[in-house]
Amino acid sequence: MGGIKYYSTNRNINEAGFVPFKGLVSFKDALMMGQAPDAGLFMPERIPNLSKGELEDLRGKRYFELAHTILEKFLYSDIDSDHLLSLCKQAYNFKIPIERVHDRKYVMRLDQGPTASFKDFAARMMARLMGALKDENKELNILVATSGDTGSAVGEAFKGLSGINVFILYPESEVSGRQKKQLDTIGDNVTTLAVDGKFDDCQNLVKMAFQDKDLTCLNLTSANSINIGRILPQMIYFFYAYLEKSEEGEKALISVPSGNFGNSLGCEFGRRMGLPLHKLIMAVNENDEFPRFLSNGQYQKLSPSKACISSAMNVGHPSNLARFFELYGGTVDKSGKVHKYPDINKMKANIYSTSISDQKTRDTIKNVYEKYKIVLEPHGAVGWAGLESYYCDNGDYPLSISLETAHPAKFPEEVNSLLGFEPELPDSMKDVDRRQGCPIRLENDYLKLKKFLESTLENK
Ligand SMILES: *Cc1c(COP(=O)(O)O)cnc(C)c1O
Repeated sequence: MGGIKYYSTNRNINEAGFVPFKGLVSFKDALMMGQAPDAGLFMPERIPNLSKGELEDLRGKRYFELAHTILEKFLYSDIDSDHLLSLCKQAYNFKIPIERVHDRKYVMRLDQGPTASFKDFAARMMARLMGALKDENKELNILVATSGDTGSAVGEAFKGLSGINVFILYPESEVSGRQKKQLDTIGDNVTTLAVDGKFDDCQNLVKMAFQDKDLTCLNLTSANSINIGRILPQMIYFFYAYLEKSEEGEKALISVPSGNFGNSLGCEFGRRMGLPLHKLIMAVNENDEFPRFLSNGQYQKLSPSKACISSAMNVGHPSNLARFFELYGGTVDKSGKVHKYPDINKMKANIYSTSISDQKTRDTIKNVYEKYKIVLEPHGAVGWAGLESYYCDNGDYPLSISLETAHPAKFPEEVNSLLGFEPELPDSMKDVDRRQGCPIRLENDYLKLKKFLESTLENK
């Protein structure tokens, strides 16, 4: 059996001067390359099936066992089964609370990992897969630009893995005090560079390093959110929540607060594998390009994006939209240009999307606390408000699960101003304000970055 191969979402673009990538690559190559040579996103040539019987057999299983069964459907020829099981066990060693809000409506908290955002689920698995699949005698150097959650999740995930070095660039003046502490104090094989510039500058520096032929010998790899290695692990918690709360044969309504659509894509992959889903709700903040597309059939990216309080979802053109279009027969590129429209009616049969204003987000945090004593932060509140909006448009639906993607303690000012107290820090962050670390300061100058990478890695 050959195993599942991966193709580029841009493979059918027919345009003067554009060279589409028509090939198929292995999971390992897709994982290491991050994106296809034509800047498209890698997609599995088929999504494997989990039968009803197999699904029911998973009831009562632990999270890492579920992860093993589901990931193995994709990775059976890429990694040994026992090895995969041990990676899943190492990656998923924290709690996943599913709190009842009222009736059979729940919030699943994906905020108990080491950096208290759902990004830990994907980053921890991707890091271990890279560690397992990389060439043994070659060092791997990961370079990431971050505006917050991704950098710390990736840094913590790779910490201590041998043969891999991580360099994180962040804009010194654009991250919160707590985020800065989280980033600066990872240590070990993870180096943080505080850049005197904006997030865009950090992204540019990273891009230039990837394009620099002089650095080819350093074996640089990205770990950003379009990597297929980050999408696959994001299917698992949807199955977990379903199996914990459903009755046999029942369908669930699931709401995902969405920015670049990697999380919601995990749910869509899950549905295609066999997860019984009533509807996927993709709740966005005031960056409403996707719900507008579903209502009028025309896609228009938002540029620049709007700055909302659910800051990790301030996205004017979601990077994973290309994968959603692909799954429904369309093509859209990185710039937001649509080459072929997807089947919008099929999309609407499976997906409901709505835009939640900052005002509504704040009202939701207040109301949910006052009525049910459940503390949400801005991203999770967008998800919950998405559910309520769905009920309003379509009537109530019994089994509903909304995701909370970050811990409320990551947003102390916002929560305090609405609820009058600061949420307690999760265990993983209890000592964060006291941690010591000193980042390396870097001017916004590519030659300085290049020199730094060369001298650091030559001396290893
Ligand atoms: C990244 C992030 C999101 C958005 O997830 P996507 O996969 O980009 O849609 C939502 N909430 C939080 C807290 C995040 O860090």
